[in-house]
Amino acid sequence: GTADRNRSHWSTSKTPSYTKSVSWQHHPETHGHELIVTSDKDGPESAFERFLPDADIVISQPFWPAYLTRDRIEKASKLKLALTAGIGSDHVDLDAAAKAGITVAEITGSNSISVAEHVVMMVLSLVRNYLPSHQISADGGWNIADCVTRSYDVEGMHFGTIGAGRIGLAVLRKLKAFDMPLHYTQRHLLASVIEEELGLTYHPDAESLARTVDIVNLQVPLYPSTEHFFNQKMISEMKRGSYLINTARAQLVDRDAVVNALKSGHLAGYAGDVWFPQPAPASHPWRTMPWNGMTPHMSGTSLSAQARYAAGTLEILESFLGNSPIREEYLIVDRGQLAGTGGKSYQLN
Ligand code: NAD
Repeated sequence: GTADRNRSHWSTSKTPSYTKSVSWQHHPETHGHELIVTSDKDGPESAFERFLPDADIVISQPFWPAYLTRDRIEKASKLKLALTAGIGSDHVDLDAAAKAGITVAEITGSNSISVAEHVVMMVLSLVRNYLPSHQISADGGWNIADCVTRSYDVEGMHFGTIGAGRIGLAVLRKLKAFDMPLHYTQRHLLASVIEEELGLTYHPDAESLARTVDIVNLQVPLYPSTEHFFNQKMISEMKRGSYLINTARAQLVDRDAVVNALKSGHLAGYAGDVWFPQPAPASHPWRTMPWNGMTPHMSGTSLSAQARYAAGTLEILESFLGNSPIREEYLIVDRGQLAGTGGKSYQLN
């Protein structure tokens, strides 16, 4: 059901909105719940704002998020659980949720491999100049010199990931097969057995990694102190002609610094599937900037991933409504503070 509904819904370039209310018997003997499904989420007149004061639980996907800002959390006086059907709960103001006693949970691990595969695809497509070459083919052309003028082998190129958690480490494992020297930086060192197996070079900070590698991959969560950390200065640390990949969150980077670096040739390509806001307006400069390999936010919502995060969403609802603990790894905020995966991956400031 979810997949079909999403498919028909997302296949149009215009954004139709829908709202429906269905009666939903979770445990028919004891509980009756009302489920409101809506895509009308933005602005004070939206269905989301209207129903929010009565909601006990909000379920949102990160791909087209229901932004739970501090203001909205103040209006949501009954809200107890903000559930992310996917990974990345930055569309919720985590500090405000903690202060309001709201539990925030997500389906940790549900789409890590889906995103990792997408990153590998983007590495290959940027470095080998796939998208412009495909366009030449689609346009009836045969100018091979134009196709290959920016086309290289990835073998031997240095790849570095900022954040080597579930997705970042999966990307490193997959790229090992391409004989690329691999680098990483993050808050916690990986186990030395993994470092040795993958031949990893650890960097103490993002600047050191950015200066060294040919391809930088961003894979850290968004929270106040990572917002815009990959700015003009950080991009200028990167080698001229290097590539930047971001399937984590758009606000990790400075939007216009990316555009300028592509125009000046400092960056040879930028690919990713995360934007701000989402949906991105038709005029968003990343849609048309040179050498971009952008997609709408879809890497973590393959049909394979949807089956996994739907199952995880159900599991969390059953725990929550059955008054049993939510699995620790699913928790981001609980009892007024970061908890579970949230404690390892996020900061409140
Ligand atoms: P994760 O929590 O497993 O890994 C994140 C890693 O980043 C952790 O190991 C953490 O130690 C590290 N980290 C946190 N702050 C850091 C900092 N300031 N500097 C260096 N390292 C830091 O998360 P994950 O499952 O790998 O996902 C990473 C992010 O990818 C998510 O937070 C989400 O924003 C994004 N994501 C996007 C999609 C998509 O569809 N595009 C899907 C899933 C997740």
